[in-house]
Amino acid sequence: MQNAGLAALGLDWRYVAFDVDPSQLRPAIQGAQAMRFIGLNLTLPHKLLAVDMVDVLGESAQGWGAVNTIRFEGREPGGAWRPLREFAVAPQETRSHGFNTDAEAITRALREDLGVELSGARILLLGAGGAGRTAALKLACEGIKELFLVNRTRSKAEAVANEIRQRSPQLKVTLGYPAGQVDLALNATSLGLKPEDPPPWDERQFSLRQAGAVYDMIYRPVESALLQAAKAAGCRTANGLGMLLYQGAKALELWTGQSAPLSVMRQALERNVYG
Ligand code: NAP
Repeated sequence: MQNAGLAALGLDWRYVAFDVDPSQLRPAIQGAQAMRFIGLNLTLPHKLLAVDMVDVLGESAQGWGAVNTIRFEGREPGGAWRPLREFAVAPQETRSHGFNTDAEAITRALREDLGVELSGARILLLGAGGAGRTAALKLACEGIKELFLVNRTRSKAEAVANEIRQRSPQLKVTLGYPAGQVDLALNATSLGLKPEDPPPWDERQFSLRQAGAVYDMIYRPVESALLQAAKAAGCRTANGLGMLLYQGAKALELWTGQSAPLSVMRQALERNVYG
């Protein structure tokens, strides 16, 4: 997806994957910086570790406690820091600047791929792991009306609920399933990745007919059992591919300073993920 995006922007850059042991993350970031890389993406567990390894933490990375994108920057003779792409001659002094593009990607996918109006929405969120926590905290910033949190390990859902109550005290957070309708049910558990997985929700406590729309963060398989059941129940549905696309598109924009060529990137992603 990134290489397709770079080609469409006419840049002779390359996006390459490296398998880095967590114990080697700091020297890996420093090495990329020394070699004048434009930037990096990081996935788990690196995106949590990198918070203490970058020179500057952007607001997004600070807020979410994770760095999934690094932009290397150089200092101008006058003293201002600029992205490396803006230098014709490699600058003497460089730094790493950490960002997080994951949270924005979740709400963008819900709006653009599923047409959910988040402001005033009632939402059921399944899962309180890394992605579930980020989704919950981000949704809480979007003016939603009520959030229902369900997680196998209840204490983790409680911890997320307490975090939200501190950050967004006006939002009503309930642990457990809603009795009435919700605008959106969002699966942030890993249930559905494997065909033999049980459903991520308790069918005795919640009927998909209660949901206007269902989003599954899982994108492989293309249509999880949850999404199949949601479609049959008449819900609008979307899988997690958009989330993956939008976090990558935002990273590309941070590195290049240009709008990401979304349709080209989406096509490349679909080709890669689905064959
Ligand atoms: P994680 O931190 O490991 O959290 C896993 C979540 O799934 C937890 O809520 C966990 O509950 C729950 N879970 C796992 N096995 C379960 C089981 N047998 N029964 C009930 N609940 C179970 O993982 P994550 O990073 O948050 O990822 C969660 C999902 O989102 C994964 O499917 C991942 O592929 C997807 N994801 C998609 C994107 C995207 O770009 N589309 C990005 C990130 C993640 P407990 O807390 O009780 O363990």
